[in-house]
Amino acid sequence: NDLASMMNVSVNEVISTCLSLGMFVSINQRLDAEAITVITDEFGYAVQFTSAEEELEVEQENEPEENLEPRAPIVTIMGHVDHGKTSLLDYIRNTKVTASEAGGITQHIGAYDVTTKSGNKIAFLDTPGHEAFTAMRARGAKLTDIAIIVVAADDDVMPQTKEAINHAQVAGVPIVIAINKIDKPTANPDRIREGLSKINVLVEEWGGKYQSQEISAKSGKGIDDLLEKVLLEAEILNLKANPNRHATGSIIEASLDKGRGYVATLMVQTGKLQVGDIVLAGANYGRVKAMFDDTGKKVATAGPSTPVVLLGLDGAPQAGEKFSVMETDREARELAAKRSQLLREQSIRTKKHITLDEIGRRLAIGSFKQLNVIVKGDVDGSVEALSDSLLKLSTPEIQVAIIHRGVGQISESDVLLASASDAIIVAFQVRPSGAAKRLAENEEIEIRHYSIIYDAINDVKAAMEGMLAPET
Ligand code: GDP
Repeated sequence: NDLASMMNVSVNEVISTCLSLGMFVSINQRLDAEAITVITDEFGYAVQFTSAEEELEVEQENEPEENLEPRAPIVTIMGHVDHGKTSLLDYIRNTKVTASEAGGITQHIGAYDVTTKSGNKIAFLDTPGHEAFTAMRARGAKLTDIAIIVVAADDDVMPQTKEAINHAQVAGVPIVIAINKIDKPTANPDRIREGLSKINVLVEEWGGKYQSQEISAKSGKGIDDLLEKVLLEAEILNLKANPNRHATGSIIEASLDKGRGYVATLMVQTGKLQVGDIVLAGANYGRVKAMFDDTGKKVATAGPSTPVVLLGLDGAPQAGEKFSVMETDREARELAAKRSQLLREQSIRTKKHITLDEIGRRLAIGSFKQLNVIVKGDVDGSVEALSDSLLKLSTPEIQVAIIHRGVGQISESDVLLASASDAIIVAFQVRPSGAAKRLAENEEIEIRHYSIIYDAINDVKAAMEGMLAPET
């Protein structure tokens, strides 16, 4: 119905076109993007999809210059485990946060506001690990302005150091290197600088473009200088926001508190959030009952780059979800309802187990490291050849593991194994037994059939590169 009115044709015409395309639809049916594209094409239209968020961003970009004011940078600390991320943030918090009279620093809220020695503000996100960073990004939050990469000087540039740098670079987020633990007798900062140069991260001292600072998260040495370098980076970015409009921003974390209801930490990115505002965050909404700053003090308003704890939402939105203030309660409620409906539909469509098509999505949220495969074939030779070629597709990012291989029909036990280990089944010139086929359908196990080894290898390779064309 919506589509028909947008194209200015009758609903019947749309429905009969759908039928001729093999889609049986009703007047109120929600169509997926692919279907909409095909149908509109039949009527000679091209579609362009925009989300509410995108519309909001466009609106933001069109903000006249005179409305903009400088805002504090939002910073994430990343690095290899045990290199001192937590210690660094703790040190910064303990020395730079002026604990308010209302109880001081009590709880972990996921984001903090600090004032540096030079009197400038920096907001820190406490989302340890680049997984959190990437997961947030996958949900559309462009939250981090600058990343501090911590490397321990008594260790080396480690796999997670490289990953963290890589994630920041892919996101286009500038990096400041903190060479930590220089108080240790075994510290060797030059080894770190060398290790970094090997991955094309040349620090300024060595003629490169990356700022770095030797620090000790234990004694505090170098930390003021590190923060000044972060501020320098922020200056180059020329970060600005309009502090006087309706607030928008991102959810840092949210949970259900027994006494207080749903509690959400949010980062205001633009505008001014106020008690009494109606906030829409993903599929949740509510009127702001109360707000607290990162020290637990009650606040009435929060401006750009300020983290706040908020009471009043009707649920716990996911971390990385965007929020915006709505004009009316009704508008917020309707959008929230529409989004929960979409979420429900999506979750029905989401597969329980891995499929080749799924790989791209899992890669995007950074949770995918190993593709498990079961290979079944008609003769020994083809099973061996196929398994060897698939194994060779392994990259540093994704390992291919052949968890089982065998000759003959795909059996129920093959499917059960695939289900238990979240594997796909690659079948070469063999088919599943009737029972195995039904089980695979129930368990949502993907069985890929091939009669040419080359095709199988190509499909898996393309999927691992995140470029598999949908199966036709
Ligand atoms: P994270 O896993 O990166 O968050 O690392 P942590 O902050 O938990 O630090 C790991 C260990 O290194 C802890 O035992 C810290 O006390 C220690 N550590 C962190 N920074 C320093 C430092 O600058 N000097 C020394 N000597 N130890 C440190």
